[in-house]
Amino acid sequence: MDLWSHDRWTFPLPATHKFPLAKYARLRARLEAEGIARADEIHECEPAPWEWIEAVQEAALVDRIRTGTLSVREQRGLGLPWSPALVERARRTTAGTVAAARRALARGVGMNLGGGTHHAGYDFARGYCLFNDVAVALARVRAESGARRALVVDCDVHQGDGTAQVLAGDGDAFTVSLHGARNYPFQRIASDLDVDLPTGTGDRAYLRALDETLDLALPRARPDIAFYLAGADPFEGDRLGRLALTKPGLRARDQLVVERLREAGAAVVVVLAGGYARDVADTVDINAATAAVVAAADAPQGFG
Ligand SMILES: [Zn+2]
Repeated sequence: MDLWSHDRWTFPLPATHKFPLAKYARLRARLEAEGIARADEIHECEPAPWEWIEAVQEAALVDRIRTGTLSVREQRGLGLPWSPALVERARRTTAGTVAAARRALARGVGMNLGGGTHHAGYDFARGYCLFNDVAVALARVRAESGARRALVVDCDVHQGDGTAQVLAGDGDAFTVSLHGARNYPFQRIASDLDVDLPTGTGDRAYLRALDETLDLALPRARPDIAFYLAGADPFEGDRLGRLALTKPGLRARDQLVVERLREAGAAVVVVLAGGYARDVADTVDINAATAAVVAAADAPQGFG
């Protein structure tokens, strides 16, 4: 199936940094090797135009990011060293989510092998996140199509504060976040529905909470389009996450979310968000399994 990747655009990063820069190229290679996508089905995007980003984030913030004039406090909050290459890469992955959203509206599902930068808000950019790709993509597809109502299902282990802030005043967008109660960010911005899970939550309790959350969210959201942040960081071997899902549990999570969103009639856009396993190969395994679930949903016969 068609996928979007920005893996060829890297940026300077200290070798000991927790950001998994190596995973993106490994994931692309893995998906090609497993036959989930052919090489010519993994697309690269031009950088998102600045006006797309400024449609959802404050122009002054976007200007500081563009020109490398973030304050010392903002730089520290971002957690990645600013460089022109960092900004270029972030614009390209943002465009990847836009492309995946367009495909989802045309074909039912779409996936970006990146994105899910949910700690980017209207007037802040923190936690490794510069631009809120999901909000940008939603604004674009609304401008280009009849899609209006949106649901964000954020299953990254960290609460989706930036997305919650950007979409707070949007009556046609419903934001859901399931996350570790004791994980970053420590000052929250409320989603429409937040689910705080105790440290050590495993597969069964997680999947039950997720199913119940979708029961509540779907009738309220009635989405034309749904964005699923398939974070790999609820994994038991994650260095940052405080939950304890196994790989089969994460795969069951992906299956549950994609299946229920498709059953509800929504176009489904999947983005990767975070993943910080001690061994990057584990994060690649989890992301590849997510892509396999999406590819299965894309097949003409669908599930079952
Ligand atoms: Zn995360």
